[in-house]
Amino acid sequence: MFRIGQGFDIHRLVEGRKLILGGVEIPHTKGLLGHSDADALIHAIIDALFGALALGDIGTHFPDTDPKYKDIDSTILLKEAYKIILENGYRINNLDNTIIIEEPKMKPYINLMQKKLSSIFNIEENKISIKAKTMEKMDSIGAKQAVAVYSTVLLIKE
Ligand code: MG
Repeated sequence: MFRIGQGFDIHRLVEGRKLILGGVEIPHTKGLLGHSDADALIHAIIDALFGALALGDIGTHFPDTDPKYKDIDSTILLKEAYKIILENGYRINNLDNTIIIEEPKMKPYINLMQKKLSSIFNIEENKISIKAKTMEKMDSIGAKQAVAVYSTVLLIKE
């Protein structure tokens, strides 16, 4: 039995913060603003995982009002989220993600993100798709003020 889930996240891109996507620190002049490390890719994946099993969303499980999540490494949240999925008898079949970012180029970091997610989910890298697009200089993302991510996850029952 399969269950599909989709997730979306957006964070403001500001000076004085690290840019972390997919658990990978990307050298840049700006980073994402948030209560945690603001890893929008991982947050979108977490929402897709919970969405697939109708278990609420990232805020239900990890409220951003809770001081224990301040500046937390989002891979810790992802591991906790995936544990809940496994406890429900499902595992990831594959996932597909699109990062929307004007700059910097994501290409040099995509495989590092795949490796990171592959080790967290214990699945092959060829089941983890990460794509990147620009906003063609339009809108807040195009003005380099924000980064958004869409994620789709297919779960399969063990
Ligand atoms: Mg977020």
